[in-house]
Amino acid sequence: MSELSHKDWIGKASAIRFRDKAFIDGKFVAARSGRTFASVNPATGETLAEVASCGEEDIDLAVSSARRAFQSGAWSRAKPAHRKEVLLRLAQLLRENLHELALLESLDMGKLVKDAATIDVPGSAAIFQWYAEAIDKVYDEVAPTGSGDLVLVRREPLGVIGAVVPWNFPLDMATWKCAPALAAGNSVVLKPAEQSPFSALRLAELAMEAGLPAGVLNVVPGLGETAGQALGRHMEVDCLAFTGSTAVGKLFLQYSGQSNMKQVWLETGGKSPNLVFADCGNLDAAADMAAFGIFFNQGEVCSANSRLLVQRSVKDAMVEKLVQRAAATQPGDPLDPASKMGAMVDARHAANVMRFVEAGKKTARLVTGGEQVTVNGRGSFIQPTIFDEVSPSDIIARDEIFGPVLSVIAFDDEEEAISIANDSVYGLAASLWTDSLSRAHRIAERLHAGTVSVNTVDALSPMTPFGGFKQSGFGRDLSLHSLDKYTALKTTWIKY
Ligand code: NAD
Repeated sequence: MSELSHKDWIGKASAIRFRDKAFIDGKFVAARSGRTFASVNPATGETLAEVASCGEEDIDLAVSSARRAFQSGAWSRAKPAHRKEVLLRLAQLLRENLHELALLESLDMGKLVKDAATIDVPGSAAIFQWYAEAIDKVYDEVAPTGSGDLVLVRREPLGVIGAVVPWNFPLDMATWKCAPALAAGNSVVLKPAEQSPFSALRLAELAMEAGLPAGVLNVVPGLGETAGQALGRHMEVDCLAFTGSTAVGKLFLQYSGQSNMKQVWLETGGKSPNLVFADCGNLDAAADMAAFGIFFNQGEVCSANSRLLVQRSVKDAMVEKLVQRAAATQPGDPLDPASKMGAMVDARHAANVMRFVEAGKKTARLVTGGEQVTVNGRGSFIQPTIFDEVSPSDIIARDEIFGPVLSVIAFDDEEEAISIANDSVYGLAASLWTDSLSRAHRIAERLHAGTVSVNTVDALSPMTPFGGFKQSGFGRDLSLHSLDKYTALKTTWIKY
């Protein structure tokens, strides 16, 4: 799908145009205050553009526009078949603009352009397509009251949805919220992370081109404490769907309680365990996927398999295999299709990750990596890093690092593995490797995780709910279940 060479990508990057204004009521507009923030390419340190930094006034304008659009009924009361057509066109436009969108992702937050072109952008198009195709197949209910009464139980869109998303998969995270919310007939005000505003702005423009009425999708770039907070506290936002850190997720619960009690849905952090049992028949496959589970996207993945729990008898063999895979996953220029890992999102985050690495060096055995590096003398990159002999109580086994840093912990039996795996404030995802079907079921049902992958890692699809237990949040993205977040049930009771 993406056969471009390094030179081709560099050529396309030099010609790319960044949308640097907010998208409100169908138009690109500067922030009322005139304020901007710099969006920097973390692979080079170069400023890509100065982007509108929205404040309360801008959020007010965007929410009013979303409310007006909702009340007009042009989208909210449009037939599902019409919404389907528009969202299918949007999916098609995302595919037609694949290279541009992939480049925006890569330049903005450092991921490999090849991954953005083969995973992120096609994934986003597939999700718009999936909700488009689903929305005219979801039936409402008639309650079984019997003769003399006809009771309709219908799903209605909520109104204005605020969506606040992170920078690790900028387009995908925006899509996970917008596709079901829009399919259900809502208006959306989307705040992308300040580290990665460009693909969301382009998405809004393409959505208009696909036929979405003005005001139905607004995008307000800005800082978390200003734009994000204003959206969280807004009296006219009916529901706030958030993906990001657990600490900020908790703030959104407060914002809601202190304003209009809007519904809040949280997809937050993780410290996902990957359990490898000695009866796993294919340790090479387990090692390939364990490496993918922690090094993909520079480890900046909420469900990254950052704790590798290995049965003691195969632990050393597994670590050796992982060291080989780490050696083959060194960082490189994100625009080079031959590179295996990209840049960290920014210098500040790289410094945070390095603080964990330094803490790990004091308590565990560093087996590979452990250094921050540059590529062509520039940027913020971190080597794939593996610590062995990690204790479950070490900080690197407990805190979400959000970088390419793996903690290996040995266990002796099933009970111990389950107890270590569940000893976390998080419960987003878990993986396990075994050739015993009984063991797989036995353990899967006891792991505290929204998704348990067996003999793979991080399995997900538009068809399956994604989200966490415990402090990984609540509510589910993806699948038909996510429509529950963006609709309310209405009972209409008719006597006859
Ligand atoms: P973050 O919480 O710092 O930021 C997320 C969003 O919240 C951004 O748009 C940011 O501007 C906004 N924000 C920040 N401070 C705010 C405040 N005080 N008030 C209102 N809004 C504020 O997270 P991040 O660093 O962008 O992303 C990394 C985190 O996201 C990790 O914890 C990761 O696990 C999580 N994440 C979770 C999922 C999931 O599905 N569970 C998916 C991806 C990322």
